[in-house]
Amino acid sequence: MVNKVNRVVVIGTGFVGSSYAYALVNQAITEELVLIDMNSERAEGEAMDLNHGKLYSPSPTKVWQGDYSDCKDADIVCITAGVSQSEEETRLTVVEKNTKIVKSIVEKVMDSGFDGIFIIATNPVDIITYVTWKFSGLPKERVIGSGTLLDTARYLFMLGEYFNVDARSINGYIIGEHGDSQLAALSTTTIGNKSLLDIVNSNSKYNVEDIENIVVNVRDAAIHIAERKGSTYYGIGIGLAKLTKAIFKNENAILPVSAYLGGEYGHNDIYVGVPAIINRQGLREIVEIDLNTDEKEKLASSINILKSVMDQLLITNN
Ligand code: NAD
Repeated sequence: MVNKVNRVVVIGTGFVGSSYAYALVNQAITEELVLIDMNSERAEGEAMDLNHGKLYSPSPTKVWQGDYSDCKDADIVCITAGVSQSEEETRLTVVEKNTKIVKSIVEKVMDSGFDGIFIIATNPVDIITYVTWKFSGLPKERVIGSGTLLDTARYLFMLGEYFNVDARSINGYIIGEHGDSQLAALSTTTIGNKSLLDIVNSNSKYNVEDIENIVVNVRDAAIHIAERKGSTYYGIGIGLAKLTKAIFKNENAILPVSAYLGGEYGHNDIYVGVPAIINRQGLREIVEIDLNTDEKEKLASSINILKSVMDQLLITNN
């Protein structure tokens, strides 16, 4: 009997979608990769280009420009389609536009008979993930947003540079909204199992202001990159590939993603960035890290900001 191969469908092959696709092919994470975009020529061009590189990747990925019927046999559908905020637009206008785009995409995906895992990267990712969950009817464990995956990578990278330690030896998370109201769970960030705050407070080489600046730079990283090159895409592309690998390899890896809270952290009926265990079934469980009073308040206020936008869109259950 031939085992079924893994298939990822990427919907939206702009900067983010194509960077994700490139990371998947480069690391040979999936056997099949289908690219869909309303600009079908763009998706076709990306498929051609990626096919020309696969000879030199660890093992070949079958890549093609497809359509929604290809979602039926997909294990993962990743949505990276959407519009970005222009200078004249408000955040809410973009939410409305992307909600509409993603609703119509989700309908078409579900009509195909899809019964796999959704990964969402379209911004505002926490809200768009909720929209996907709500309109797909899939269990919450199988609708996962990229959440603070990228913000956490930026946080650990910048701390690694500051302390001159490999970022992978640092444990800590950015949680909350993938946006301005996010927060660093500083009180539980550790380096080699030692509390970051203890290290800073006991060594005159370091100071708390520097750490606070790092947290601000993490929050504003997308703006800093956009000022230089227009938008960000490699970081999220590699992050989405890691999330995909954690699913396909049944890693039970703990990753900060946008997850549905049903009482965890004292909150309900919201998708927001928190660490969670990811395996072949999707999101196995949310990890509730200890937060101090200040962090709890910041998380609550981040969630309130998301909820107030969602209330205006009339998409919550309340
Ligand atoms: P982009 O404009 O380069 O690409 C968007 C693509 O979506 C385009 O190719 C467009 O044709 C396609 N598209 C639009 N509507 C569609 C539809 N109905 N069906 C199919 N395809 C459709 O934008 P980008 O830079 O790739 O960003 C994509 C999204 O990712 C944005 O919402 C952006 O804010 C978000 N993003 C998220 C993160 C994260 O950490 N989650 C990081 C960076 C960007």
